[in-house]
Amino acid sequence: MKITGITAWQVDLPLREGRYAWSDGNQVTVFDATVVAVATDAGLVGHAECTPLGAAYLPAYAGGVRAGLAELAPRLIGLDPTDLGALNRHMDATLRGHPYVKAPLDIACWDILGQLAGLPVCKLLGGSAQDGIRLYRAISQDTPERMAASVARYRAEGYRAFQLKVGGDADADIARIEACRAALAPGEVLDADANTGWTMHEAARVVAAVAPLDVYIEQPCPSYRECLSIRRRTARPLVLDEVITDAETLLRAVADDAMDMVNLKISKVGGLTRARLLRDLCMAAGIPMIIEDTWGGDIATAAIAHLAQSTPAEFCFAATDFNSYGTRRLADGAPARVEGRMTAPAGPGLGITPLREALGAPVLVVGEAV
Ligand SMILES: [Mg+2]
Repeated sequence: MKITGITAWQVDLPLREGRYAWSDGNQVTVFDATVVAVATDAGLVGHAECTPLGAAYLPAYAGGVRAGLAELAPRLIGLDPTDLGALNRHMDATLRGHPYVKAPLDIACWDILGQLAGLPVCKLLGGSAQDGIRLYRAISQDTPERMAASVARYRAEGYRAFQLKVGGDADADIARIEACRAALAPGEVLDADANTGWTMHEAARVVAAVAPLDVYIEQPCPSYRECLSIRRRTARPLVLDEVITDAETLLRAVADDAMDMVNLKISKVGGLTRARLLRDLCMAAGIPMIIEDTWGGDIATAAIAHLAQSTPAEFCFAATDFNSYGTRRLADGAPARVEGRMTAPAGPGLGITPLREALGAPVLVVGEAV
């Protein structure tokens, strides 16, 4: 089988809540998604999506996805999309870095492989390992009172795990964590994600102040060294996210006992091929994961669901149904939340059918158009 064409669309994803705010005053009101289709000479078409969390979260931005695709896509025409290892090595040899650009190309090829096999992608990633993936809800940064009210509102929608966006002023963040912890019901879990927003003295103050509380702390500081320092000062379970970007950084962190959990984002590490590698390394090291992506709609949520469903529940702390945060549908067949949980689509490949009318006109066509 050969790749004959690559098409990309830009789609705005407005937020149901109107605004999503996190550390250092960052916020997004409309997410900028790129949907990719990979066409083949066998008539199979694979789809994927990449939606960065703005431009200030990771070294990734929405326009960069499309600029990178324009650079990379012409070099993939004629390759076999089912040779995923060779495809990834070719992408790395053609464009250094930029894993988020490679992610939708890799994922679309997994969609093709699944369609060819007649199996859902989760089967190809190790097989279905759990039913009903627990979902967490991100609580946008706001006053402690409004964040605690958001926890109650999303509990009513079925969620039992909550990720607070902190990483602002240390005193305010202590109040946010205390207010939301007090709002929890038995069996619920709370993760305070600073998204690199604290300097070490601020992080030290927060983890000391919340020491008696049953909460997780995620990515307190920008650098690995700073996070490791905070890790050694707190008994709270620590999650690393932004600094775990590849196998090299993960292996070092495992060797240093730097975290209790990893937040694994598919596009951050370059697609499902690399995410599967990191997932398997985490499991071998006894490290559970939050399995998700930087953001997304229906298609990104389907990819998350397949990776999460092929991960045993004890290693999949939570995943995310990003398609419930926005107001725009991108595909039929995407996961739908039930009682705070989701299940991967059962059809072949990603198991979704993109809604062409929702995509508009393509912004990039290389080779055969779909
Ligand atoms: Mg995070």
